[in-house]
Amino acid sequence: MTSSALTATAAGGRAASFGEAPMSVFLDVDGTLLDLAERPNEVTTPAELLQVLARAERKLDGALALISGRPIEELDRLFAPLRLRASGVHGAQVRFDPGAPPRRSPGATELPHSLWTALTEILAQFPGAFAENKRFSFAIHYRNVADREAELRAAVIRLVDNHKGVPVEVLNSHWVIEVKAPGSDKGRAIEFFLASPPFAGRTPIFVGDDTTDETGFAVVAAHGGFAYSVGGRRPGAIGAFACPQEVRDWLSAFSQGSAAA
Ligand SMILES: [Mg+2]
Repeated sequence: MTSSALTATAAGGRAASFGEAPMSVFLDVDGTLLDLAERPNEVTTPAELLQVLARAERKLDGALALISGRPIEELDRLFAPLRLRASGVHGAQVRFDPGAPPRRSPGATELPHSLWTALTEILAQFPGAFAENKRFSFAIHYRNVADREAELRAAVIRLVDNHKGVPVEVLNSHWVIEVKAPGSDKGRAIEFFLASPPFAGRTPIFVGDDTTDETGFAVVAAHGGFAYSVGGRRPGAIGAFACPQEVRDWLSAFSQGSAAA
């Protein structure tokens, strides 16, 4: 961990605050809180992390939210029985009240089924690749056909170009090409949270590991907060954790009120 991240550990450990203002904490999930797996449904949640998250949320008076590319329904499954404030599908879904169902974010639109059908036809030509239909986005996993990445990427771009009436953006993350409707992103989701209690007026911290987290990094910086990446320093981050275990250790130390690094 860098010295900047150590500062966050120390500050967080003392009084759930970063400088003068109390903190709010936003956390990406895959590659940040949880170790990546070959397939998204093979990811596991360490049992002790549930207690750590529950304690951290209490300490922050509820100002903790998961900001993930997964749908919120999947986050609930991964962290059961915990239900946390969350944004899903790269900002397309938000849930301010942990007891309430996820809502569509303002500006978020679903992709048409015709695009999904066309995508599945393309993927039939790439055995080993598979896609998740997250309604607001389609995530194409290519780890098992890494040697054909360029070919697959070109086919996806052609597909998008051929659906001219359907505005989409193409996001890149670890072994994933994500086709997503524009109008929402992680940064805008964090903006929504920061506008209302219990987040408003707190100094936001966001930890994420991927290019799709960088909109969030920019938003927390614009609000006087601090962004940390995982597994290497990313643009907009002021420090980096080496791996998800380091993030979990930081959160654990914070949640127990100790300043251990
Ligand atoms: Mg991630």
